Amino acid sequence: MSTYGIDLGTTYSCIARLDANGNPEVIRNNEDDSNTVASVVFFENENNVIVGQAAKENVETDGERVVQFVKREIGKPESRTYEFDGKTYTPVEISALILTRLKNLVESQGGSIEDVVITVPAYFGLEERSATRQAGELAGLNVLSLINEPTAAALSYCARQFQEDRTILVYDLGGGTFDVTVLKMSMTQNDSGRDVQKITVLATDGDDMLGGKDWDDKLYNHILRACCDDNGLTPEEIEAETRQDIRSKVEEVKRKLSKKQSAKVRIDVNGSRTEVVIKRTDFEQMTSDLVAKTMNFIDSILEKVPAEQIDTVLLVGGSTYMPMIIEAVEAKFPGKVQQHDPDQAVAKGAAIYASLLVEEVGSSAQSDEPSDTPHAEQLTSKFTVEDQTPRSFGPGVVDTNGAKHKYVLENFIKIGETIPAVAEKTYYPLEDNQERVLLRVFENISTDDTIIPCVDDDGNPQACDPANKVKLLGELAINLPPNTSRDTPIKVMFKVDASGVHVEAINTKTNETFEAFLRTESDIDIERSAVHQLRIASE
Ligand code: ADP
Ligand code: MG
Repeated sequence: MSTYGIDLGTTYSCIARLDANGNPEVIRNNEDDSNTVASVVFFENENNVIVGQAAKENVETDGERVVQFVKREIGKPESRTYEFDGKTYTPVEISALILTRLKNLVESQGGSIEDVVITVPAYFGLEERSATRQAGELAGLNVLSLINEPTAAALSYCARQFQEDRTILVYDLGGGTFDVTVLKMSMTQNDSGRDVQKITVLATDGDDMLGGKDWDDKLYNHILRACCDDNGLTPEEIEAETRQDIRSKVEEVKRKLSKKQSAKVRIDVNGSRTEVVIKRTDFEQMTSDLVAKTMNFIDSILEKVPAEQIDTVLLVGGSTYMPMIIEAVEAKFPGKVQQHDPDQAVAKGAAIYASLLVEEVGSSAQSDEPSDTPHAEQLTSKFTVEDQTPRSFGPGVVDTNGAKHKYVLENFIKIGETIPAVAEKTYYPLEDNQERVLLRVFENISTDDTIIPCVDDDGNPQACDPANKVKLLGELAINLPPNTSRDTPIKVMFKVDASGVHVEAINTKTNETFEAFLRTESDIDIERSAVHQLRIASE
């Protein structure tokens, strides 16, 4: 049984493994004659659910039975559900259908699949990560681990171009999302004294509402307008079939324009044939604002990591096939740009990581295929992937040191720390004879020591800086014995690993320990009540 790497993308998904020589290879989707599977699900009827290109072809004519871009919904606090033929589907269940299609791809070609690594955007918080894992399990897969997409892309790049310390900027423009991440690859020695390459995320940013689809939409509107002009019609007079015809052709036109200076498309406009010619220069002009948007994200990330420090810029994501993207990024980083397997790098990197994990587990992993050859050993033994905390985490506590009591979030563990990250601090009950303490645990993306949390000390929502993306993960109830004085030290410990936040509190007078494991908000019912808080030590 081989291990597989899965890129569960917003618009296209991809699955890869290491071949007999230890090189990553993508499993072809022969049905769609492609390396990828469209992340689109069509609920044709009660008995037939279609995933892939065939599902995509129903977007305009049967849009209400088609689900796409579900990755934008997964693990979101108020994520929507989908209803078809009397059944309700969550984003996790829809994602599981896409994963099942990838699994079937392997099985239909005689492979067997169980252990996988699934990729997630670097900006995903704990809930999105845990929901992605659930989708994998629902599809009958054993999810060994998740890995950040830019890390996977860098891993796949470095497997071929092994080098010394490097700082790499990954520009990932996919179908529905844009991410820019700066990673540092550094040489280090592992526990057994072997030289290994460590990958660390320095900064990440992006827009989950910007991607190839926006280029498609511009092209769609352009062709629709041309069809109207040629036939003397208004857009309202264009039939649904014609719209679907345009919709299903725009992506192909866009791909042609990546190769050629112009592309021709024939559309059946309400029964009469219309030919539209699009020049690459016109396409570039109508989408220049989109390119500029991605460049603004680069500018803002360069405020955190100066451009001189960047050695290589990796272009990944299918939309980086567009020459306008290569040119814009090349202009910003002359001589540093590498286009690397745009639509496969992420899945391949995940496959490398999966084999690396199995290697760590060692001989306990049985192999019935000849894929774990010495070559694979050579490739993977050079790397160790150091995962970082995807968010900052900390408890809500009362600061009594000022004139007024303030309920604040003290960031124990900051975003970007190496996993497992551990921190502890001692607090005190707010009052004498307090019977119970509710320790609220928050996640956020701020690197400040102290910020305002998204709920007040009573547990009611309150305004806070939206840029910090503060989210309440849950709370730990700490019971105190009668006559506990407000000077009783309560030691609070946090441990963040890939699966969530472990919180522990110890009443140091009685040695009583309270624990919670927080992964998603739904793990714990939030209690709304006042004053049961811990306070920061008085000065
Ligand atoms: P995801 O966002 O799901 O990770 P990908 O990285 O596979 O997706 O990128 C998919 C996007 O790339 C789609 O919008 C697709 O149209 C676009 N794309 C793929 N190949 C090309 C090409 N040759 N030229 C322009 N765009 C392309
Ligand atoms: Mg992607």
